[in-house]
Amino acid sequence: MSNEVPAGRHDERVEDSKRVKRYHRTGRLLGVAGFLVDLAVLLALLFTGWSDALRTVALHCSTRLWLALLIYLGLFGMINQLVGLPLDFLRGFWLEHRYGLSNLTLAGWVKDQLKGVAVSGTLAALGSEFLYAAIRHWPETWWLVCAGVFIGFFFLLANLAPVLIFPIFFKVKPLENPALIERLLGLARRAGTRVRGVFEWKLSEKSKKANAALMGLGNTRRIILSDTLLANFRDEEVEAVLAHEFGHHVHRHIVHGLALEAGVTLLGFYLLHRILDWLTPQLGFQGIADFANLPLLLLVAMALSLILLPVVNGRSRAMERQADAYALRAIPSRDAFISSLEKLAAINLAERLPHPWIEFIFHGHPSTEKRIAFARRLPV
Ligand SMILES: [Zn+2]
Repeated sequence: MSNEVPAGRHDERVEDSKRVKRYHRTGRLLGVAGFLVDLAVLLALLFTGWSDALRTVALHCSTRLWLALLIYLGLFGMINQLVGLPLDFLRGFWLEHRYGLSNLTLAGWVKDQLKGVAVSGTLAALGSEFLYAAIRHWPETWWLVCAGVFIGFFFLLANLAPVLIFPIFFKVKPLENPALIERLLGLARRAGTRVRGVFEWKLSEKSKKANAALMGLGNTRRIILSDTLLANFRDEEVEAVLAHEFGHHVHRHIVHGLALEAGVTLLGFYLLHRILDWLTPQLGFQGIADFANLPLLLLVAMALSLILLPVVNGRSRAMERQADAYALRAIPSRDAFISSLEKLAAINLAERLPHPWIEFIFHGHPSTEKRIAFARRLPV
């Protein structure tokens, strides 16, 4: 028998565990490869003069700066998408099918990719147009203006995402289970929050994985339960999963998360301002408003998010523990909480006990084994 499995585990988990490890190792490998490809494309665009060439082509098509920027973004986005496509396919389609986790057809995957490009392309175009207009209008204080506007936009997006973005990708309908709805609304009342409805999320069209969320901000705050969760979990297990989500609300994690994002955004724009002022003359750009420097902006953003990854994940794991502690006190039985974690791990092929370094760098949640051990020893 393998020695990877802690004492006291059932034998059937040994096989499972090797399969799970392979799934996660491959996923991480593809993720890191994707990151390196993105990095290589940005460095190549910046240092080979291709970004300059794209800007020259764009300005040749139109002398209006906003339109030239839009053309540049279209060309830039096309290169990024095409180079990244093989790895996106391997990670998003092939890997999930190989491990029997996906219900998505190839046509469905392509459709989702196109929708993703349309949504993220629109947001990227709006953001870039505003950014370069701000640099032109306020050469000294643009970074502060941009940080303020982008932070406001994050809050707006958190509010609008469940009604505007989520339905583009998934079918959602009001849940038809009065007993469960009453149970979950009771949980919301005890957590001191108001939710505008409980919804069933048709995830089974795409995936075998189970999920649930407390989504939205203010007047769009809602409970969303995947049909894959509803099909496999007893009502008290669904309640346990949601009690954890309400734990995030009680401890104000959603607002703290947005505040953290705001802080990182402000720091990021300040660093950008300093780095652009420093490197623009050396890299041969025509001033900091020259949009051929976009790869440099993205490189700074990538470096910042890479440095902050373990910090953000460490903070997230601490928040998850607080939410678990709240959940265990908010529901009648800890058995339902533990069995919901067991089921989630089994259905989603979760890594129950990742290597400590892997957990430290990549995981926003404590491992399933740690969460179950915590649930067993917490005095309720
Ligand atoms: Zn959580």
